[in-house]
Amino acid sequence: MASIKILTDKCIGCKICIGGCPFGAIAVEDKKARILDNCTLCGACVSSCKFKAIDLTKDEEVVAQDLSSYKGVWVFGEQKNGTPSSVALELLGEGSKLASQLSVPLSAVLMGSNMEETAKSLISYGADNVYVVDHPSLVNFNDESYSDIFVQLIKKYKPEIVLMGATTYGRSLAPRISSRLNTGLTADCTGLEIDPERRILLQTRPAFGGNLMATIICPNHRPQMSTVRPKVMKALEPDTGRKGEIIKPDVIISENVKINVKEVVSNLCEMVNLTEADIIVSAGRGIGDPKNIKYVEELAAVLGAAVGASRAVVDAGWIEYSHQVGQTGKTVGPKVYIACGISGAIQHLAGMSSSDTIIAINKNPEAPIFKVATFGIVGDVLEVVPALTAEFKKRMG
Ligand SMILES: Cc1cc2nc3c(=O)[nH]c(=O)nc-3n(C[C@H](O)[C@H](O)[C@H](O)COP(=O)(O)OP(=O)(O)OC[C@H]3O[C@@H](n4cnc5c(N)ncnc54)[C@H](O)[C@@H]3O)c2cc1C
Ligand code: SF4
Ligand code: SF4
Repeated sequence: MASIKILTDKCIGCKICIGGCPFGAIAVEDKKARILDNCTLCGACVSSCKFKAIDLTKDEEVVAQDLSSYKGVWVFGEQKNGTPSSVALELLGEGSKLASQLSVPLSAVLMGSNMEETAKSLISYGADNVYVVDHPSLVNFNDESYSDIFVQLIKKYKPEIVLMGATTYGRSLAPRISSRLNTGLTADCTGLEIDPERRILLQTRPAFGGNLMATIICPNHRPQMSTVRPKVMKALEPDTGRKGEIIKPDVIISENVKINVKEVVSNLCEMVNLTEADIIVSAGRGIGDPKNIKYVEELAAVLGAAVGASRAVVDAGWIEYSHQVGQTGKTVGPKVYIACGISGAIQHLAGMSSSDTIIAINKNPEAPIFKVATFGIVGDVLEVVPALTAEFKKRMG
């Protein structure tokens, strides 16, 4: 492990380093700085001390680790009842670009029961091969056994990159695996690229409340691990004639797991199904009153669309959180996104700007949402939305 310490003979207690620590992990007491327990060893404070009183020692042993034995791009083939999740297919699409840049195979890792057809489907979406661990005990996702098997596979086959959906499953699995392998993990990436010179993964994600985009690398550890939210990347068109290898590796499936899934109950949030919707009509604070949500719902009903919302509407208690689109809500990428009375704050755009067509309705012609909109309607939502509903009803019978 890396370590950090204050060289007390050099520290004059000037407190400048306090501002240099983004985590509030430095205190100055009795004119000497002290590193607190919440230090993440990020190293940001080192250069803030003009007196060279902060000493950060990097992990030499890991730097010397041989990374060249790690090859290939892996995608977690998340599935439910044998149907691959949309994000797994999107990651195969993105993974195939990364794999071709690195000239390595793209593999999917599939766990479950009776997975033969699912494995073929993953091949049709771009996997060159699929590691299938098929066992009745894996029929339902179980973070304990899934992560245990995944770690065994990574240790055996040594992929250089592992991608997972930032879903409930992926968010549970990825940190367990990365901590057991002592490697890095970048959550909720919005962009993945290969640095061609160093052959490392450039993982881009919003940082500091979405106000800037940070590109994160994992230069000294393998595999490089990222999670990506659904609808951020694009899946390839499936090709059922595509050939790939189905590999059934020898792994130990522990029977001694502490977690035993007895029943899976689909919750109400899943019925909103925002992330899968082709059309979304979203309400913003501009609708003015909770009773006006009905206008948005009526337009959505006519179009067969899902109902989304900005955080302002959710925070006001006008609609449930499961409808929230944005950085702290769902990431969506429908064919059509209709923003009704939404200003277009960066945190909202982070969740919907990859929509194919964006239609914005706002009474302020200067509203930032118009910068990303394909079509803009300047007007009062309470007039425009019912008029659209009536017109669509007429035209669509
Ligand atoms: C860390 C963090 C995370 C966040 N995460 C999210 C997130 O996930 N999702 C999200 O949405 N926000 C998020 N936010 C909040 C975000 O910054 C904005 O505050 C929020 O998106 C604003 O919602 P809004 O556009 O509905 O409201 P406002 O910004 O108040 O905009 C209302 C808009 O409606 C227009 N308007 C008013 N009346 C009418 C009318 N009668 N007809 C037509 N137009 C009208 C106004 O011109 C205005 O543009 C986050 C903020 C932070 C700090
Ligand atoms: S560590 Fe450096 S910056 Fe911090 S109080 Fe001491 S001398 Fe000042
Ligand atoms: S290493 Fe990072 S988290 Fe730790 S004290 Fe310095 S700036 Fe703060």
